[in-house]
Amino acid sequence: MDRYNSKEIEPKWQKFWEESDVFHAKIDPEKSKYYVLEMFPYPSGKIHMGHVRNYAMGDVIARYKKSKGFNVLHPMGWDAFGMPAENAAMEKKIHPRTWTESNIKDMKEQLRPMGLSIDWSKELATCDPDYYAKQQSLFIDMEKSGLVSRKISKVNWDPVDMTVLANEQVVDGRGWRSGAPVERKELTQWFFNISNYSEELLKGLDALKGWPEKVRTMQNNWIGKSSGAEITFSIKNSITEFKNIKVYTTRPDTIFGMSFLAISPNHPIAVNLSKTNRRLNDFCIECQNNLTSEEALETAEKKGIDTGIKVEHPFIRDKKIPVFIANFIVMDYGTGAVFGCPAHDQRDFDFAKKYNLEILQVFEPENVEMNDIILKNSAILGEGRMINSEFLNGKTTLEARKIVCNQLEKKGAGIEKTNYRLRDWGISRQRYWGCPIPMIHCEKCGLVAEKKENLPILLPEDIEFDRPGNPLERHQNWMKTICPKCDSIAKRETDTMDTFVDSSWYFLRFTSPKDPKPINKEAIDYWMNVDQYIGGIEHAILHLLYSRFFSRAMVKTGHLPEKFKEPFNALFTQGMVCHETYRDGLGQWLSPEEVYNEKSGEIRKISDNSKVTKGASTKMSKSKRNVVDPKDIIEQYGADTARWFVLSDSPPERDIEWTESGVEAAWRHIQRVWRLAHEIINSEDLKSSNSEDEKIEKVR
Ligand code: ZN
Repeated sequence: MDRYNSKEIEPKWQKFWEESDVFHAKIDPEKSKYYVLEMFPYPSGKIHMGHVRNYAMGDVIARYKKSKGFNVLHPMGWDAFGMPAENAAMEKKIHPRTWTESNIKDMKEQLRPMGLSIDWSKELATCDPDYYAKQQSLFIDMEKSGLVSRKISKVNWDPVDMTVLANEQVVDGRGWRSGAPVERKELTQWFFNISNYSEELLKGLDALKGWPEKVRTMQNNWIGKSSGAEITFSIKNSITEFKNIKVYTTRPDTIFGMSFLAISPNHPIAVNLSKTNRRLNDFCIECQNNLTSEEALETAEKKGIDTGIKVEHPFIRDKKIPVFIANFIVMDYGTGAVFGCPAHDQRDFDFAKKYNLEILQVFEPENVEMNDIILKNSAILGEGRMINSEFLNGKTTLEARKIVCNQLEKKGAGIEKTNYRLRDWGISRQRYWGCPIPMIHCEKCGLVAEKKENLPILLPEDIEFDRPGNPLERHQNWMKTICPKCDSIAKRETDTMDTFVDSSWYFLRFTSPKDPKPINKEAIDYWMNVDQYIGGIEHAILHLLYSRFFSRAMVKTGHLPEKFKEPFNALFTQGMVCHETYRDGLGQWLSPEEVYNEKSGEIRKISDNSKVTKGASTKMSKSKRNVVDPKDIIEQYGADTARWFVLSDSPPERDIEWTESGVEAAWRHIQRVWRLAHEIINSEDLKSSNSEDEKIEKVR
């Protein structure tokens, strides 16, 4: 055979690997282990090029480590709960389980010809009752250890999908799937108390030397530690029965430059005043309707309204400071109130200009020449030396922070305080296709955890998707249960868990996927940590942070040994797979199969020879139709060509542009390697060898 024939060779070896079970990983204390993992896919039904790139990278590492004598664990599974299955159920009248299972089957079929070195005996899907039963038992242990709470919180509500959305799921004020304008709603929700671990999750980042610096920085910013002071301002008049307002600030040094105080529209004082003041009430409602996401808060015009309340300055006698309600203050950061020092904060500066408030400079920047230029148009930021600040004059801003904190503490008007931006993790979803939260509402006992021997709490199979909303809430039989404490009739919790919970511990379960306990200690001791984790940068914050939290929670609940800290030793974030985009004369997107290149370089539509406009190369996506199906490429060129192309064309962390010419070049390269190997094998000094194996040994 003088040409590499992928249709013959690839299935031959794939069959051999399968029959000899070579990728099956077993604990072997004699051998060093290596655990390589790619972020597991959502079973949408189709393997795309992003998957191919992701898994080819993991596969190369797995094979390399195996050839170096390591005992390699390289499993695969399915992140199988979530909204698309439920949407499919509503649109196509298919049960979410049927839809999901059939997609998994299809995707396994599509993965097979890629020839990946996967141990399929470890396969799991998060929608398997066995998997989510274990997750329910972990939840119960977490609840008993004080890691779970229930709080009323404002949520982003998608009025079309009838579900709560995370901030990240709100894009330009609209639901990421439905596109409907998001509303604000108050709901009682289940939370994991991840904020208790803010400091630990932050400190832990230092140890993650095998992670990209970028991801560590993103996590660092997300946790958002700051140090400053919490100052209590006394209220000076009788418009409200409240006696004071607490403010968190990272710049207590600028207190002498304070000219207003601003509170959130959701601050208790704002809520209270709104009851009797129509003007304030209208303003608060307007704020809540307009500003849903953090992004919207950042970019919106800064607006405020004077409440008429005045507070005392802690260090200046008889100085009265107006209190505003302002649209840019969020209730769930700090105390929901800030003091405004317009000379040294741009947002406060803009606000003061708009509402004609005093702008008093209280420090000179290090570069004093800049002084005069700036304050006319913008705030003076950074550090410097104090002026106009009584006992602080002449000190540096850093020194001044310390002194102000001490003075506040002496007066009983404040304390030094560290703050974190990280909020608790709201895990409640008002959907059917997720892991049921194993809690019971009893009229006598309140909230009671289900008994472990009653697990799993299975999702009911007979379910109606004829209306939007949570079908579990309409399923009377399923909701009705017995209180584990007092045996009276009680009601099941109908919220299911955020799918990020499912993916926070699957890598642990992979080490012993059939164990009757959530995890097996011996398997954890041998296989963990994941030595190399590979996935997209889009998971740099939430998934990885939640997994790091979950590991700590599982230490606290006794599932993992005390010494266990971080689950992933090394992380690699691969770039995206991109392709040119095409549009016809009507502006409709066209797929690469619908167009052809003329010799002149012009692109035309195959069906009617009309001109096609070429657009930018972007991430392959259904909406822009710039997708190449891995199946077609594998059929035409073979898996080795597809794999070689995605691995060799661009550095792995960068985006790769899929081009027909690039694929052909990869195919020619493989032909060259094949010919070279043949020339060597057929050369004179190897002719005497008895078998192909022996020849290959000699070539090596
Ligand atoms: Zn009870």
